[in-house]
Amino acid sequence: HHHPGRVARVDRGVCTVLTAPGPVRASLGGAVLAAAARDPSALPCAGDWVLLTHWPDRRVTVEAVLPRRTALIRRTAGKDASGQVLAANLDTAAVVEPVHPEPDVSRIERLLSLAHESGARPLVVLTKADLAADPAALARQLAAVAPGVPVLPVSAERGIGLEPLRAEVTAGRTLGLLGPSGAGKSSLVNALAGAVMMPTQPIRRVDGKGRHTTTWRALVPIPGGGAVIDTPGVRAVGLLDGAAGLDRAFADIAGLAEGCRYADCGHDGEPACAVREALQTGELSTRRWESWRRLQGEVSHESRRREARL
Ligand code: GDP
Ligand code: ZN
Repeated sequence: HHHPGRVARVDRGVCTVLTAPGPVRASLGGAVLAAAARDPSALPCAGDWVLLTHWPDRRVTVEAVLPRRTALIRRTAGKDASGQVLAANLDTAAVVEPVHPEPDVSRIERLLSLAHESGARPLVVLTKADLAADPAALARQLAAVAPGVPVLPVSAERGIGLEPLRAEVTAGRTLGLLGPSGAGKSSLVNALAGAVMMPTQPIRRVDGKGRHTTTWRALVPIPGGGAVIDTPGVRAVGLLDGAAGLDRAFADIAGLAEGCRYADCGHDGEPACAVREALQTGELSTRRWESWRRLQGEVSHESRRREARL
């Protein structure tokens, strides 16, 4: 019969699965392989709950991936229309951005759209707060690009600001970290776990192919029943899956658009356009407007491409 477990990581088709008696290594069963041949998103990923079969010859296989409550999905241009799931069953999806040298606002906006799209509760975590003169002021400033989303300055090194994050990994809750390599995600995992669970980067590693990025994802259990999942570097995260996450990440612009005279206003010179007015008064910054337009273009391009394949 089947035993339940939760996938901690996947490495070349071999899953490390956490089960009540301990971690086991499991290969993919026939049913999972068949489903994945039709749709790659059926492959197990970190955070998935699975059913395992223990065979008499001691092999263990993943027989089924249980339905996901939430999923962080990557879509890549020019590839298969269906996406690859980066992390599953997150309660909270934290966009992790370092304060030093300075936060990349458009990266926060892009990853926040993905976080919203996943179905998990989004957060922005500003790491290395010990390197900022006034991290609280920075958090207030960035609140404008994260409407309705808490912005939390933390320092894993000094153990500052970690309490609100600890609440996200208690009582069986799962926190996902989404951000670039070097942002301090591993340091954060270790601080929350209270032990060195993940290697951190002593310096920014550079190899012949460019900057080193973390290509594997790992779920780390937290004492007390929760878990944290590190997701890959931002360069590995592709196009947006749909417009819903984008609309939520840009709730300020969506709200402004409700004041336009025409419900289908393209904010492109139509009369009585509330978005254009806000741009003129400076209530809406040109930078944010352009960022929204760029991401919007990506979504519609992707949907058009997908529709063309049908
Ligand atoms: P990851 O690639 O996102 O997992 O980042 P790491 O956790 O490996 O951290 C990248 C670098 O940032 C390492 O050199 C860490 O020592 C450093 N770092 C991480 N957290 C902090 C922090 O809170 N303060 C400072 N000053 N440096 C940090
Ligand atoms: Zn308009």
